[in-house]
Amino acid sequence: MTTPKVITRFAPSPTGFLHIGGARTALFNYYFAKHMGGEFHLRIEDTDKARSTDEATQAIIDGMNWLGVHHDGEIVYQSKNADAHIEAAQALLESGAAYRCYATAEELETLRENQGDTAFRSPHRDRTELLDKPYTIRFRVPEGETKISDHVQGDITWDNKNFDDLVLLRADGTPTYMLAVVVDDHNMGVTHVVRGDDHLINAGRQTLIYQALGWDVPDCTHVPLIHGPDGKKLSKRHGALGAEAYRDMGYLPGGLRNYLLKLGWAHGDEELFFTDEEIAKVFTLDGINAAPARLDFDKMDYINSQHILREADEALLTQAKPFLETVNDCPLSADLEGRVLKAMETLKPRAKTLKEIAEQARYLMLKRPLDITGKAAKPLRRDGAIDHLSALTLRLKALEDASWNEDALQALLSAYVSDNDIGFGKIGQPVRAALTGGAPSPDLSWVLALLGKDEVLGRLSDVIDGEFGKKEE
Ligand code: GLU
Repeated sequence: MTTPKVITRFAPSPTGFLHIGGARTALFNYYFAKHMGGEFHLRIEDTDKARSTDEATQAIIDGMNWLGVHHDGEIVYQSKNADAHIEAAQALLESGAAYRCYATAEELETLRENQGDTAFRSPHRDRTELLDKPYTIRFRVPEGETKISDHVQGDITWDNKNFDDLVLLRADGTPTYMLAVVVDDHNMGVTHVVRGDDHLINAGRQTLIYQALGWDVPDCTHVPLIHGPDGKKLSKRHGALGAEAYRDMGYLPGGLRNYLLKLGWAHGDEELFFTDEEIAKVFTLDGINAAPARLDFDKMDYINSQHILREADEALLTQAKPFLETVNDCPLSADLEGRVLKAMETLKPRAKTLKEIAEQARYLMLKRPLDITGKAAKPLRRDGAIDHLSALTLRLKALEDASWNEDALQALLSAYVSDNDIGFGKIGQPVRAALTGGAPSPDLSWVLALLGKDEVLGRLSDVIDGEFGKKEE
């Protein structure tokens, strides 16, 4: 017996942005399809015309592209499948699994008021003659039980008495979500439905529709929603709901993929860092936790820092560019770009996000003369500081361009310290102040090497010849 190819889908309703919970659902579908050598599809559920917008559709597509969750095949737009939905409703009508309900809005209200706790059954359920009145097509919930076996929620059985005779086709002929999902999943050949557990009860209702149409019911997995760091359901109050908010905070798409996947999925060990290939190799639906996952920014930062460490310098520079420019309020000229690229290996271990890379790179991008004030200026006001800077400048000038590297500069600094019989701080602190203005920076020999000879001598002479130099006289 050959098993059918696994086909999964992500089916967002385009009413906002790519929600972080939706993004994780998409990732579960994506990696499971990869693991099984199957396909992952994107379906935009845009049947609710009042709530769906083109901007929201674009935001979801952009969010998925940025996150690197690439779907197979063409995007399916649910609104384009109306004919198939109507055809299925007609088939259900013909087989008797559905019926015409002529109840008006007022009648429905009264019926609902009187029904108490019991599920909705229309008085038109058993009507045989046709009326010349508008009608909806309702599903005729059969007696008995409905069972599903869910990868996360386990085996669930509902008494069908809990299910309303739901509307499949509205009076204006438009299909409802419940019908459209079943028909589209069937027509797309979806074998596994993985979605939020807010849809769990819908799985029961949809199972009944599948059965009435004589179609195979897809395997299902209902994933607990994401909660905020405080353990409460994720809401606007927590901020950062959309994938783009994480992009703007400077997370790498690979880091966010890794984090979201680990959020609520365990692989039998505590390892947090995974590459896409590793995830695809080991990801199964049974590893998804049944308890809601809590956002944990420390973990996210740690995972992202691991991805930053492993990212190629050039690729990291491209992604960091907008952050470098906005955080440091300075366009990235070709010269500066070269300088930051050279510094990347020193920036990577110090940054958890692209924003932090930009902060760590600030000293490389400062405009001369530097604005050195407050605490940062203190070492430059100490007795003898400017003399030391002048003396060191002479030695730096004498260092050949070809030797302007971290090791030679370290040796030069050490020699200066021992020749003058001073502590390293005596020279290190004023030099750092003059070259960085108090911005975060790595070892001094790196600062010198990465800024380059011209810039170093320029920044030193700005200080020696400027306000601090005058005070020394
Ligand atoms: N469109 C639904 C939603 O965004 C998802 C439907 C489904 O996955 O079955 O909640």
